[in-house]
Amino acid sequence: MLVLGIETTCDETAAAVVERGIEGRGKILSNIVLSQVTEHAAFGGVVPEIAARAHVEALDRIVGKAMTEAGKSFGQIDGIAAAAGPGLIGGVIVGLTTAKAIALVNNKPLMAINHLEAHALTARLTAGIAFPYCLFLASGGHTQILAVRGVGDYSLIGTTLDDAIGEAFDKTAKLLGLGFPGGPQVEKEATRGNATRFTLPRPMHGRTEADFSLSGLKTALRLEAEKIGPLSDQDVADLCASFQQAVVEVVHDRLRAGMKVFRGRHGTPTALVAAGGVAANEAIRKILQRVAFEAGIKLEVPPAALCTDNGAMIAWAGAERLALGLTDPLDFAPRARWPLEEIAGPQTKPGLMSEQGA
Ligand code: ATP
Repeated sequence: MLVLGIETTCDETAAAVVERGIEGRGKILSNIVLSQVTEHAAFGGVVPEIAARAHVEALDRIVGKAMTEAGKSFGQIDGIAAAAGPGLIGGVIVGLTTAKAIALVNNKPLMAINHLEAHALTARLTAGIAFPYCLFLASGGHTQILAVRGVGDYSLIGTTLDDAIGEAFDKTAKLLGLGFPGGPQVEKEATRGNATRFTLPRPMHGRTEADFSLSGLKTALRLEAEKIGPLSDQDVADLCASFQQAVVEVVHDRLRAGMKVFRGRHGTPTALVAAGGVAANEAIRKILQRVAFEAGIKLEVPPAALCTDNGAMIAWAGAERLALGLTDPLDFAPRARWPLEEIAGPQTKPGLMSEQGA
């Protein structure tokens, strides 16, 4: 089964062709990502109108490149998948409308994919992870712990009550005069900083529910920075290191709570899976390894290029849904907000759940 996937929910214009074998293993035939980071850098964040216009200008070319690199024609493709939300609505409209046009002209099924579902299922593309697994999704827009029990079967275990972790990294970088996106810059500065110099809070520490809160940490960092006045390079590095260490400890504590909640509700997960751009952070990856070790399960962190926004994850989610006969009508409406739990899954039929679990 061959699926073309299109991703335009934020500031990456992406398209990919992915193959799903009969036994459910995935193969990426092409994965083209065009980042708009330079268009938004001057503004210190993504500007929705600029993003939507940039998607319009680039998408045809990116889709063409993905098809050429995969060596496939539209006639050979079994279905067209596009991220239909959640995300910046202008960009979502561009990607979904393009996918609908390709599907209509070529008489192929359309799969309107939830961007978060695509992140959630990526570990099955990269490592064939079986259900149920525990997903830690940490990106610029989301911070969630989820039980992934099947295609279209997601249960929220914990979420952020305010900022996402990536957003907290980005805001910290902005406050300290570092570039955008902030995560990689803060991580780089942290390597030469003293993580114990500033005492920052570990919000929600020890709570039994598995939610996150990052805004207090961000405020505490700002107050520490303001106390110093003009910041030296070493001050910036120490603030970054102290911030990153606080986030690492928060992730450790919250995921341990999440693991307990998972076991209580769904039994033992097959693996801890990471998704979202924050998983690129080396210190966070190490703590994820520790959480998995403590829980006695495997850790799966897909390659960085598949943790951040990309077309392959959309194509794969499309293939997983197409394999279960889950397609969408051409009048499917794009959604700026679309919680994972609202996704339609397959009707429970004899044999179907066991097929999903395979
Ligand atoms: P979403 O997928 O929720 O719509 P997004 O498109 O912003 O949000 P991603 O592309 O998955 O998310 O990830 C980008 C985020 O990851 C940014 O906030 C960025 O700062 C953060 N990030 C990237 N690399 C690192 C890193 N090394 N350390 C910490 N954070 C990082």
